[in-house]
Amino acid sequence: MTDSFDRTIDYVRIAVTDRCNLRCFYCMPAEGIPYEPQAHLLSYEEITRLLKILGGIGFRKVRFTGGEPFLRKDFMQLLENTAGLADFESIHITSNGTLLQKHIPKLRALGITKINLSIDSLNKERFHKITRRDDFEKVIQTFYMLIENGFKVKLNAVIMKGINTQDIIPLAELTKDFPVDVRFIEEMPFNGGYKKNIEMYSARDIHADLKAHFSDLQKIPSKHGDTASLLSVPGYQGNLGVIAAFSRTFCNTCNRLRISSKGDIKSCLYDDGVFNIRDYMRSGVTDIELAEQFKEIIRLKPKDGFEAEKMRKAPRKAMQSMSSIGG
Ligand code: SAM
Ligand code: SF4
Repeated sequence: MTDSFDRTIDYVRIAVTDRCNLRCFYCMPAEGIPYEPQAHLLSYEEITRLLKILGGIGFRKVRFTGGEPFLRKDFMQLLENTAGLADFESIHITSNGTLLQKHIPKLRALGITKINLSIDSLNKERFHKITRRDDFEKVIQTFYMLIENGFKVKLNAVIMKGINTQDIIPLAELTKDFPVDVRFIEEMPFNGGYKKNIEMYSARDIHADLKAHFSDLQKIPSKHGDTASLLSVPGYQGNLGVIAAFSRTFCNTCNRLRISSKGDIKSCLYDDGVFNIRDYMRSGVTDIELAEQFKEIIRLKPKDGFEAEKMRKAPRKAMQSMSSIGG
């Protein structure tokens, strides 16, 4: 399916829960966010139904995220259902890595090997300061186990001025010794509204740090739907990416829709939800009606994140936590 700006929309990101066991300070306040009652979340049968419909209108890639997806008890069941859907060429998961170790054999058996792990620092104290939890050892061990087991791992790191800019190079150096890609992400104002002022460390700043350290840094041409500007260091196994998530320089190649855990569809990260598909589905509509609704949402997808922000009903200060959006 293409939208009215001729972008092919074939990637859906689904937040399977709004719950999380970490408290990353750029994502939510220390006391957490008010969680939705269980009955308000899409059930795994509802998610499977939506995926079948999306597959039927041309979606080929799905990412499960959260909250922390592995907190959800029926998550493995959902993955099993999804692995059985012929239309989806690739199934991805974004996780904080604290709960997934025991699922590695099952994930492998299902052929789900594309995992993004979030790790903002390779320093235990800084990791604790950022996540407000003491799980660094567990997460780094998960990283090693995933690599040993042949998973295709990407590391996500949100880079924040005065907090973890000193981690940029150590994280980038991981791509020398391991077949891992690293993505550096600008902080976005999705922290549940409690943190108003973000002192931006921009994609440009991150690029400058990488260029200053790696004199032979090379640009990699981007592919369909890439949000990162990609770089590589000759001889290194993995690549590097810088995601201008706040500067929004990639909207012209956007290929995605987001569905929150309670069924709010975001056709852009910066809108405040354009349609609730859970309520529509629970009203008894047919698959054809659901497919038509998705087509309409795609047709109306805004040109970019700035347009989407202008169309918000709620002001920016009331922005959600990323834990309910999924990143
Ligand atoms: N809990 C899982 C995790 O942390 O990987 C999945 C959900 S988390 C919301 C998805 C991604 O969003 C993570 O890589 C996280 O770092 C990123 N994220 C969360 N809040 C953000 C913010 N305010 N700005 C930029 N990225 C953010
Ligand atoms: Fe949890 Fe992920 Fe948000 Fe951190 S970024 S609090 S791990 S949902």
